[in-house]
Amino acid sequence: MKLRTKLLIDGAWADGHDRFETVNPATEEVIAEIEEAGPEQVDAAVRSAREAFENPDWRDLDIHRRAELLWKLADAVEANLPAIAETETRDNGKPLFESSKIDIPFVVANLRYFAGWADKLAGDVIPVSGPFLNYTRREPLGVVGAIVPWNFPLNLASWKVAPALACGNAVILKPAEETPLTALLLGELALEVGFPPGILNVIPGRGRVTGQALVEHPGVDKIAFTGSTETGRTVMETAAGTLKKLSLELGGKSPHVVFADADLEAAVRGVTTGIYYGKGEVCAAGSRLFVEEPIRNEFLEKLAGRATATTVGDPMQPKTRLGPLVSKAQHERVLEYIESGRAEGAKVLAGGNATDVDGRGFFVEATLFADVTPEMKIAREEIFGPVLAAMTFTDMDDAIVRANQTDYGLAAGVWTRDVGKAHRFASGVRAGTVWVNTYNRYDPGSPFGGFKASGFGRDLGRQALEEYTQTKSIWVSLT
Ligand code: NAD
Repeated sequence: MKLRTKLLIDGAWADGHDRFETVNPATEEVIAEIEEAGPEQVDAAVRSAREAFENPDWRDLDIHRRAELLWKLADAVEANLPAIAETETRDNGKPLFESSKIDIPFVVANLRYFAGWADKLAGDVIPVSGPFLNYTRREPLGVVGAIVPWNFPLNLASWKVAPALACGNAVILKPAEETPLTALLLGELALEVGFPPGILNVIPGRGRVTGQALVEHPGVDKIAFTGSTETGRTVMETAAGTLKKLSLELGGKSPHVVFADADLEAAVRGVTTGIYYGKGEVCAAGSRLFVEEPIRNEFLEKLAGRATATTVGDPMQPKTRLGPLVSKAQHERVLEYIESGRAEGAKVLAGGNATDVDGRGFFVEATLFADVTPEMKIAREEIFGPVLAAMTFTDMDDAIVRANQTDYGLAAGVWTRDVGKAHRFASGVRAGTVWVNTYNRYDPGSPFGGFKASGFGRDLGRQALEEYTQTKSIWVSLT
């Protein structure tokens, strides 16, 4: 597929008010100049989405046909998977292995999963007193603004776009300024397979410009946001002005707990992918490790060996498992955290340095810190990089207390052969997802979202449909 660099509004490619560059983080080269949507273009996108939403071509479209359109979009993404995956890797730096085998296949599966819901959005018939029939309808919200981050650009876009379209909304997708390319390709494919113009508009731009204008716009009914907790707060404040519905998928500092009775080889593998997969730029990254004291030394030694062996390099190479961080700014930020870890007295057991490929790229080694205490910055703040902070615990109660010692509550992992312990931990930890003897598992059918400062609302699964529909209660007199 040819790269697209303009705004997709009302089925046509439009200019913005300004341009910005998107950079390949592995080579530091500019891939393309992208048009940015300013308030005027955001307004045009909202008007187009509103008209498309109210147009009988979409509003009265047969529900089975709506499902079919989503299936066709899934097929189109699948047919173009190699090109889309390559574009994602160039824009974000994630290994091609991840984009082509995990991220983009998930987009396909997700579109198919929500296609399946399009014709199954049933209401209820509710027993009420008196001679009345009372029933509910699940109706779309209208215009949904989807604002997504750069770490899983198309994958997370599909978490919003697929259910929103399945429920009959019109969508305006604002990708992150670091990674706008694949969202534009999705918009192009949606048009090609027959979604009416305006049903999926794609408007790249900076958060404070395009994102802000979208959240402020009175013509947008809901903002589905994934990003940092700090930005989530701003979005919530701005959305209050027009009383928009909101779902916020925010940051995390997820605990990964290893009991002494665990299958240690499997746990080492799980903890490694839990933090280094996706370069650690993963909201659910298992970034705080808690090892039961008796196995501390043995476990950390194995883990350090595995971290050191992680292949850092050109993300286009099929064997690469750790690509460059997404941007120069993110690179600097992660290196500052590593310095703060050292300065606060934590011990580097693996990695700890910036690295490069042929003198270029925003690479950081897979880094493991031991002797971390809960007050250290690296134990408290979301680093969003390949940096693991290892601590210890003494027993189940201690594990739960330590795991919960965070403002966040997105995910958690636990490794034990004792099924009772696994369930006790799963029930005690305050997190939206708990993985037992595995980590980083996702399925379009399984809901995902945060407790506490990790946000509210759920992506994926049946629960996501609640986020894109509103309930209407209808009373009919039977007399
Ligand atoms: P970010 O908050 O900086 O940006 C996210 C999106 O919001 C981008 O599209 C950005 O342009 C936009 N934005 C920025 N300021 C805005 C504003 N004032 N108004 C409207 N939109 C604005 O986050 P990021 O750095 O791109 O992504 C990393 C963060 O996302 C991490 O904190 C991570 O944990 C989180 N994340 C959460 C999940 C989840 O499901 N909970 C998934 C992935 C990432």
